[in-house]
Formats: sequence, C-alpha cells, structure tokens
Amino acid sequence: MPIEERCAERAKLGDVVAQAVSNLYARNREYKAAKDRKESTTEITLALQAARDLERAVVRADDDHTKKHGCKS
Ligand SMILES: [Zn+2]
Repeated sequence: MPIEERCAERAKLGDVVAQAVSNLYARNREYKAAKDRKESTTEITLALQAARDLERAVVRADDDHTKKHGCKS
C-alpha cells in the first residue's frame, strides 16, 4: 500500500476528532451553565460522559490509524 503525502482517511478522522472535541466543549459548557443555575445535571452529566467517551474513542482510532498506516498528515 503506497503511503501518500496526504492521507484521505486521516483527514476524515481529523474532522471526526474536531467534531467530537467541539461537541465535548459544548456539553461541558451546558453542564457548567446548568450547575450555575442550580438546575438538575442528571441528563447533561450523561451527555457529557457520552461526549467524553466518544472523544476518547475517535482520538484512539486516529492514533491507531497513524500507527498502522504510517501517515503523518
Ligand atoms: Zn493514513
């Protein structure tokens, strides 16, 4: 398998990682806002945890791809 200068798969993974990170930040803001307003955080805590798990999973997938494929960008 030839290693290309720019890996299309990696670019896609990069987009997914960026989305997961911004989603995590958004959930974090919602969580803090709910806490500040002394509202229930039960649902947002679950959403925040799910966002964290997703972020970790996509970062891992990105790492795994880089290791297996040897692409750098
Ligand atoms: Zn690659």
